[in-house]
Amino acid sequence: HAETWKQLKDHLPQWVTESKAHTSDGHVASYIPELANAPADVLGICIMDTEGNISVAGESDFRFTLQSISKVFTLILALMDNGEEIVFSKVGMEPTGDDFNSMLKLELVEPGIPFNPLINAGAIAISSLIAGSNPTEQVERILHFFRDIAHNPSLEINQSVFRSESDTAHRNRSLAYFLKDNGVLDREVDDVLHVYFSHCSVEVNCTDLARMALVLAHNGVDPIRNQRLIPRRFVQIAKTFMFTCGMYNASGEFAMNVGLPAKSGVSGSILTMVPGQYGIGLVGPALNRKGNSTAGVHLLGTLSQEFDWSLF
Ligand code: GLU
Repeated sequence: HAETWKQLKDHLPQWVTESKAHTSDGHVASYIPELANAPADVLGICIMDTEGNISVAGESDFRFTLQSISKVFTLILALMDNGEEIVFSKVGMEPTGDDFNSMLKLELVEPGIPFNPLINAGAIAISSLIAGSNPTEQVERILHFFRDIAHNPSLEINQSVFRSESDTAHRNRSLAYFLKDNGVLDREVDDVLHVYFSHCSVEVNCTDLARMALVLAHNGVDPIRNQRLIPRRFVQIAKTFMFTCGMYNASGEFAMNVGLPAKSGVSGSILTMVPGQYGIGLVGPALNRKGNSTAGVHLLGTLSQEFDWSLF
């Protein structure tokens, strides 16, 4: 470990500079107006080891919203609140090669049940399963959980992103109504969407992401506090989905070139990990056509190659 860590520290700034050139190949997401304001040329990364040492490079203090990365942790919380049987009566287990907000594959597993919990339809179904007697209680529960995993009590919802997303989410609304019509949602559509937009809008930096990833890398135990936060089985489920469908319809390509469980979000963020070792958080808002950070994917390709991190 000591040697890898030293190599990482020494070379990371240079690798970040090289990957940064790829920010100009992409475009910042604009379908949520507030996200369009993000600077396209940013790239920042934080890698955290088992003791909490960090290796950072680029604009690692840049703040962004979790977006789809939050879906990994709401899935885990829904599993902790309901167990596997209930959760998988509402969402499937199959990867889809479709865009994140695909309506086409919504019905393929069983009539009306979204393919998996990481596509928008599936994640909206998962939001409805978080314990709480109203949306406010559900959001509080989610925030509490995210803060615990990130070990950062100051995590908050970015209200302008929340509003921007909520005001323009016509497709997510239509997905939610479709789910409601199919009997997948036991709560009101507006309440479920409030919870969904809230968890997508939680603001973090790369260090928060790296700490959250570290807990997954250690199968649910925060190695720094030596405390179990998530049952192992639920981390296994989450990591399996990350591997098979965490990078939208580029999950196969990412598995081939990087070979690690990962989840990306339209804010240009990626959470990934080296199992048993490091938690990794990065952000580069310019996205490729598949919706993943151009520079971020390039940087992870370099790291995986240099350190032979692929699981295969
Ligand atoms: N909140 C975003 C949406 O539902 C998440 C999208 C993403 O990061 O993939 O549109």
